[in-house]
Amino acid sequence: MTMKLFDLTGKTALVTGSSRGLGRAFAEGLAQAGARVVLNGVNAARLAEAAAEMRAEGHDVLTAAFDVTDEPAVVAAFAGFDADGIAIDILLNNAGIQFRKPLLELETADWQRVIDTNLTSAFLVGREAARRMVPRGAGKIINIGSLTSELARATVAPYTVAKGGIKMLTKAMAAEWAEHGIQANAIGPGYMITDMNEALISNPAFDAWVKGRTPARRWGRPEELAGTAIFLASAASDYVNGQIIYADGGMISVL
Ligand code: NDP
Repeated sequence: MTMKLFDLTGKTALVTGSSRGLGRAFAEGLAQAGARVVLNGVNAARLAEAAAEMRAEGHDVLTAAFDVTDEPAVVAAFAGFDADGIAIDILLNNAGIQFRKPLLELETADWQRVIDTNLTSAFLVGREAARRMVPRGAGKIINIGSLTSELARATVAPYTVAKGGIKMLTKAMAAEWAEHGIQANAIGPGYMITDMNEALISNPAFDAWVKGRTPARRWGRPEELAGTAIFLASAASDYVNGQIIYADGGMISVL
C-alpha cells in the first residue's frame, strides 16, 4: 500500500535541464519509482550520454533537446510528443542558470537571460504541458525554486527575482489548474554539489560559510532531493497544491 502511493509506473515525466546536476538526479529518482523519463538540455551530446547511462541502468528514457527559453522550440517539442503519442503526466521544471554580478554592473541582457531561463521557461513549458493535462483532468507540475525564493543575497538579483517568481508562479498554477486535477508544487533546494556551484565549493571561505550556516553542516547531494520529487510526482501528494518544500539541510529555518 505504501509503495503503491509513490509508484510512477505507466507515467511519463519530462525533466528540463536533466543532462546533469539536480535534473539528472530528479530523472534518476522518478525512473526508479517506475516512470518513463524524457531528458532535456541544450547540449545534445551531453544529453545522449546521460540517456545512454540511464538506459544501461535499465530505465526507460527518451530525450528532447530544446532550449527552454525558446518559445517556438518549446511548442515544437510538445507537438513532437503529440505526434509520437507521448503524454507528459509529470513536468519537472528544473533547467536554470546562475549568474553573479552586482546590480550596478548588471547588463540588461544578463538580467533578461537569467529571468528567461529560470522563470519564463517554467511558464512556457508549464503552459504547453498544462494545455494537454487539463483535458486529461490530471497532471503533476514541479517547479524548482531556491532559498532565494525567500531571501535576497548580494550579486544574484535576477536569480533571486526569478526564484521568488517561481514560488508565486507555482501558486498561480495551483490556483488556476487545481480544479482540473493538476497539482503544481515546488522544491527549494539548499546549497547542492553541482556544476553550478563549482566555483563556490572550491572557495574555502564560501565553503566554510555554507557549512557554518547549514544546520546539517554540509552541502547537499543531488540524489537527496529525489524523494521529495517522487512524493510531489505521485498520488501521495494529490491534495498538496501550491506549496514549496525546502530541502536544504535546515538552512531556511535559521538564516
Ligand atoms: P547545473 O548547471 O548543474 O545544470 C543545469 C542544467 O540545466 C543542465 O542540464 C543544462 O543543460 C540545463 N539548461 C541550462 N539552460 C538551459 C536551457 N536554456 N534550456 C534547456 N536546458 C538548460 O545546475 P543545477 O543542477 O545546480 O541546478 C538545477 C536547478 O536547480 C536550477 O533551476 C537551479 O537554479 C536550481 N537550484 C540549484 C541549487 C544548487 O545548489 N545547485 C540550489 C537551488 C536551486 P546543458 O547540459 O545542455 O547545458
